[in-house]
Amino acid sequence: EKLKLPPKIKPLDVSVINRIAAGEIIVAPANALKEMLENSIDAGSTSIDIVVKDGGLKLLQISDNGHGINRDDLGILCERFTTSKISSFEDLNAIATYGFRGEALASISHIAHLTVTTRSEDSDCAWRATYLDSKLVPAKGGASADPRPVAGRKGTQILVEDLFFNVPSRLRAFRSPADEYNRIADVVGRYAIHCEGIAFTCKKHGEPHHSLITTAQASTIDRIRTVYGVAIANELIKVSVAEDKRLGLVGASGYITNANFNAKKNYQPVLFINHRAVTCDPLKRALAQLYSAFLPKGSHSFTYLSLRIAPDKLDVNVHPTKREVRFLNEDEIIQRICDNVQHVLGEVDTSRAFKTQS
Ligand code: ADP
Ligand code: MG
Repeated sequence: EKLKLPPKIKPLDVSVINRIAAGEIIVAPANALKEMLENSIDAGSTSIDIVVKDGGLKLLQISDNGHGINRDDLGILCERFTTSKISSFEDLNAIATYGFRGEALASISHIAHLTVTTRSEDSDCAWRATYLDSKLVPAKGGASADPRPVAGRKGTQILVEDLFFNVPSRLRAFRSPADEYNRIADVVGRYAIHCEGIAFTCKKHGEPHHSLITTAQASTIDRIRTVYGVAIANELIKVSVAEDKRLGLVGASGYITNANFNAKKNYQPVLFINHRAVTCDPLKRALAQLYSAFLPKGSHSFTYLSLRIAPDKLDVNVHPTKREVRFLNEDEIIQRICDNVQHVLGEVDTSRAFKTQS
């Protein structure tokens, strides 16, 4: 018998560590898009344009008219844990921005070619910088890694090319660019509904038509109509749940379809908690259960809810993708929402029954 000796333990290369970590935050092109979208919103943009090629794997470009980035910050922009948004752990208790980890651009720079063009109000020109593995690098054919002056308008354009070029196993897992595009369009659609005052466009590279356009002035119902269609927009009713300090509920509001609307398609609820697009399975289940009393078997509703929880009752730091959030008194708050939904659905239902009687 040959004695099996323990294998030697050795530290991983930093570049390997960074690439592994990046792949956990940026699982698919839609994750990269969401991070960049949130950065644009954090920057106070009122107009956001997105262009996508090959489902975002070849090219993902997002242009905004926000406050831009100072030229002097471009050197550390893509370092891990560099952020303009918080400075202490306590700041997380009252977080008003989407970002706070300073990990998104760093992550992207480890698994893609990243080019940033940005101009702030007080700058005479725009500055363009190219990044790889957190660091400034020369552009293709260029000699210097320094940011270079270019013509451009106020705001920021982030260009992500060849996502996952150095993670072949991940790249192979993406079978269909069309599916990845749909995931991106789904994310953009959700934010387009929620973010009043911001104009959004999203299109495939090289195609003349946008797959999504909302104007800055569009109302929430207009936005839902643009993204999800007229059949849904025509059957919406408003929900609103009042503040309850004891529960830490600041309020909830949104639009849901009435009992006239029943879709074969199972729409995932458009849910925002403190302005973050999230999923909340207990709430989703509760709503589905509730609707099943109003809708024919096997059919579905559409719901858009914006839930505001006292910041100190909410933990956004559960997962790097920030997709999951936890909040206190979850059961009671869900019950509150469902009571309201039940109430407004019932009202429409009885008025309809009344109309058909007379
Ligand atoms: P975080 O959003 O957590 O701070 P990111 O890696 O997403 O981390 O971004 C790092 C920093 O880059 C941000 O704190 C912000 O200052 C700046 N930034 C990123 N995108 C934009 C943008 N579109 N407009 C202005 N500043 C941006
Ligand atoms: Mg961010």
